[in-house]
Amino acid sequence: MPDRIYLDYAAATPLSSTAWMAMEPILTGVWGNPSSLHTEGVQAASILRAAHESIAKCIVAHGDEIVLTSGATESINLAVFGALKAGFMRGKHVVTIATEHAAVLGAIHAAGADVTIIPVDERGHVDADAIVAALRDDTVLVSVMMANNEIGVVHDVHHIGKAIDAWRKKRGSVYPLFHSDASQAPNYLEIDVESLHVDFLTLSSPKVYGPRGAGALYIRRNAPWGSVFGGGKQESGRRPGTENIAGAVGFASALSESVAMRDRESSRLLPLRERLIEGLLEIRGTSLNGDRIRRLPNNANVAFDGIEGEELVLRLDAAGIAASTGSACKGGSEPSHVLAALGLFADRIGGSIRFSLGRSTAATDIDRAISAVREILEKMR
Ligand code: PLP
Repeated sequence: MPDRIYLDYAAATPLSSTAWMAMEPILTGVWGNPSSLHTEGVQAASILRAAHESIAKCIVAHGDEIVLTSGATESINLAVFGALKAGFMRGKHVVTIATEHAAVLGAIHAAGADVTIIPVDERGHVDADAIVAALRDDTVLVSVMMANNEIGVVHDVHHIGKAIDAWRKKRGSVYPLFHSDASQAPNYLEIDVESLHVDFLTLSSPKVYGPRGAGALYIRRNAPWGSVFGGGKQESGRRPGTENIAGAVGFASALSESVAMRDRESSRLLPLRERLIEGLLEIRGTSLNGDRIRRLPNNANVAFDGIEGEELVLRLDAAGIAASTGSACKGGSEPSHVLAALGLFADRIGGSIRFSLGRSTAATDIDRAISAVREILEKMR
């Protein structure tokens, strides 16, 4: 689509050509089932093992700690249900935060957990002390995302993980287990599972310029975890079902590329994000949602007074610009629970839209987006 400006990278990224080049020979030439004993099967199994190792390396883990899944939602469900299954003798209390993705909040609800939801402040930050204060003898799991998908706010998961670990050590327990949804993180944030003190970590391929239908859950060696799905022995029985080898290879390749590009892309996008925020804030009745500083370098979530966000998104789309009213997973016109958690009123929530930048974004795109918003708002107001 020529001349379109895509500013919705938090929802989905295009497939990188490196990932495609890694996948193509697999899709066309590797059809063996990795569980088969013959040469074709052994070849497939060896490719799959290499993908595990490559993904693990990106988060400083071991290959056998990586469980390949169909994406973030599945990884999150595996973590939540698996932790609750393992810890059922202890209880079913889970602690999470108000701005988690619907996949986390929904999985906790579906698992029938007794949940404590920790509020965030008006900038979107959570207090590690509040999380620790909510821990109980029956707490099985804590889940805190690395970076928020709607407002880009980055949580200090290292600090939170350390505080949880100190609480566990004091009681001589491995509980509560700690999960972090890092779906939005790898393009911009360093991930080292050891230093984050996580037992589980969720990764998503389509957020890192990899193929759809792929993702991973990191499960720390020896972390208590009960299997969720019944079936074969694939992924050491943790995710039964014949593996998506091309997806795993594409995801592994895309993730490695993202990690290699991380610092350069972060430095390139930061001034572009600032240019976008400043340009938009110059327009009357405009404000930024979420912390200005501790947010992903590609995220600008902006509220426009007296405007219907969905209408603005549709008008921008007609002008060739793709933005979003927030999480693609919300669907329909359900108001954002993330913006509500910042204490924003319904009008401001309804008038908010998210721009998320990525590899194709250039300064000219930012300037065109600002002018388009300005022109559309003049017509709408
Ligand atoms: N978690 C976060 C932070 C996300 O941004 C998303 C997708 O937007 C998900 C989970 C769910 O990902 P998927 O729909 O690919 O399973």
